[in-house]
Amino acid sequence: MAKQVATNITWHEGNVTREERHDCLQQRGATVWMTGLSASGKSTIAVALEQVLVQRGHCAYRLDGDNIRMGLNKNLGFSAEDRAENIRRIGEVAKLFADAGIITLTSFISPYRADRDNVRKLHEAAKLPFIEVFVDCDINVAEQRDPKGLYKKARAGEIKGFTGIDDPYEAPSNPELHLKTHELSVEESVQTLLDLLEDEGLLEP
Ligand code: ADP
Repeated sequence: MAKQVATNITWHEGNVTREERHDCLQQRGATVWMTGLSASGKSTIAVALEQVLVQRGHCAYRLDGDNIRMGLNKNLGFSAEDRAENIRRIGEVAKLFADAGIITLTSFISPYRADRDNVRKLHEAAKLPFIEVFVDCDINVAEQRDPKGLYKKARAGEIKGFTGIDDPYEAPSNPELHLKTHELSVEESVQTLLDLLEDEGLLEP
């Protein structure tokens, strides 16, 4: 956990409650945290889910690994320390979005269990739903998909510390959802996620 550096700061309450904000949007804000190997399908599933949710009149927003690394986290690399800070910042941003009432879809490899658990704790402390989704794919299938050619580069030694090749991936021990994308189609994964969001009562006022 990051240390609080600034002193003499005080939390400033607003005049609007979370319930009032979420009522405005006719839904409950939540974070849907997709974790898994590169090319497991996190971004593909998040894009498709966001589209269906918005088409159905819900407010959803994606926080995507590469996109965030081009802006907010452009000063971070892939060392264990930087990966932890990457996830910490995204966790904080996702929490703010969920608090605002948005169904927030994050797609980050987020390979270390401790980092993901810290984000979970952050949401639990704020009483916001945190749905960890293990986007699971056999590494041989992920390597065959390789939409960005990253496995090829990692195998050639052009990328060091690549998750699944020469950096570990710690699978979630108790995720809210486990999607095996080498067995499910994108549509089936999206439907499973929609069912879960509905069952959790997040898609209703
Ligand atoms: P990640 O965000 O996990 O790195 P991407 O979504 O960028 O993964 O890439 C996954 C690739 O695998 C895409 O090219 C996608 O079209 C392909 N793919 C094939 N089958 C599936 C599936 N069943 N679920 C998700 N993605 C799939």
